Amino acid sequence: MKKGLVIKSTGSWYTVEDENGNTFECKIKGKFRIKGIKNTNPVTVGDRVGFTLQKVSADENEAQVGLITSISERKNYIIRRSINLSKQAHIIAANIDQAVLVVTLNFPVTTTTFIDRFLASAEAYRIPVLIVFNKIDRYNEKQNKDLEILLNTYQNIGYKCLTTSAKTGDGLDELKKALKDKTNVVNGHSGVGKSTLINILEPGLNLKTKEISDIHKTGKHTTTYSALFKLNFGGYIIDTPGIKAFGMLEMEAWEISHYFVEIFKISENCQYNNCSHTHEPGCAVKDAVKNGKIAQTRFISYLGMLEADDKHRPAF
Ligand code: GDP
Ligand code: ZN
Repeated sequence: MKKGLVIKSTGSWYTVEDENGNTFECKIKGKFRIKGIKNTNPVTVGDRVGFTLQKVSADENEAQVGLITSISERKNYIIRRSINLSKQAHIIAANIDQAVLVVTLNFPVTTTTFIDRFLASAEAYRIPVLIVFNKIDRYNEKQNKDLEILLNTYQNIGYKCLTTSAKTGDGLDELKKALKDKTNVVNGHSGVGKSTLINILEPGLNLKTKEISDIHKTGKHTTTYSALFKLNFGGYIIDTPGIKAFGMLEMEAWEISHYFVEIFKISENCQYNNCSHTHEPGCAVKDAVKNGKIAQTRFISYLGMLEADDKHRPAF
């Protein structure tokens, strides 16, 4: 049996790269199941797989077709829920080292609610996040002040942050270093500069991330394609149409507070074990918000996530 890395998936065929850099077109043997979700695609890019080669004809020169027979345990994976909100989920990629969230404080505005939801999802997926504040060349005085506050907020709770401008080149060396030798997934609202940044670092790489808005307009469903693009300076970028923020995992209310890292840490000191940090007396989290140890914006995002999903879960 050979071993390799899945670098491209079209839904039915998988391109697998072995340790020598040779690629093989493979199919899957039988049906694999992953616990907990009904997935439409059992194997995905980033998977380390075992495969065997089969001759498709007697011709010596004929390309060999592979059959994937095993998958190594994943350290993590990301999914996209199908649009009809059924339980069906599509796995986009596995074994991701870093989620790069590109945000802008203007043109367009990325809200802290969006950032915090993304961070909570990434915690749930066990994927480290790098927050990239782009278009800093376009910020006015007010936005520069906001940027300082946000950098403080997110760096204080342990997230790596960078400030960049694709226009002036500020921060691009740092960005390159941060992506190097990692498998990265790049996320963020449309228009924040994802393609521009990546194209500067890796000219010629034309990511499909952009095409989703057109796909949505035509209603076509092309969620099956994903690929790993090798960066010339080392590492990979995951390319899949239209991934703005990965699909939320289903979370129980108590879980949400686990994924706000600073809230979780401080909640040790709450009077009640299962404190929801909303109405309970002796809540250390609410105290921390009051005295500025937890950012207001983070707490508001937390409450927003609790409320949004309220109907779907039992009360505390
Ligand atoms: P994407 O949708 O996230 O891939 O965004 P694009 O890369 O397509 O960028 C959207 C627009 O913002 C383009 O017109 C870019 O030229 C512009 N842009 C990207 N980065 C910067 C930046 O750092 N500064 C300025 N001024 N414009 C930028
Ligand atoms: Zn509490």
